[in-house]
Amino acid sequence: MTPYEPWASSPKARKVMIGNRSRDTKPELAVRRRLHAMGLRYRVAYRPIRELRRTADVAFPRQKVAVFIDGCYWHSCPQHGTKAARNADYWSEKLAKNVARDADTNARLQAAGWTVVRFWEHDDPGQVAQAIRDLVRRPPG
Ligand SMILES: [Zn+2]
Repeated sequence: MTPYEPWASSPKARKVMIGNRSRDTKPELAVRRRLHAMGLRYRVAYRPIRELRRTADVAFPRQKVAVFIDGCYWHSCPQHGTKAARNADYWSEKLAKNVARDADTNARLQAAGWTVVRFWEHDDPGQVAQAIRDLVRRPPG
């Protein structure tokens, strides 16, 4: 496990996080670099179900593996997301909705035959990449 790192410790840092939240985040790029180095080929910002507006951060369409690298704040990570509870109601509600939406996304993709894996942005990128590799290289059946 990675040591605890306070996130968004200043208003400035917080602003940066909000600005970068949707795609090409640093943790995501770190994982993608490693996957690429392992020789894996993947899609980025991919919609597993065309008509469903849910976008996997990294996807392996052939193996039907969808990877999400969730931001600690936006997806209420148990280690770092607790600060949300102290925020204004607006944010608490918004974050709760995100969590519900994540669960809904998992259920819908799984129902369509996808394997859904989620990691936290605080997870070690090397370990994340290895876990993904094990998953996509697993022989079918
Ligand atoms: Zn976290």
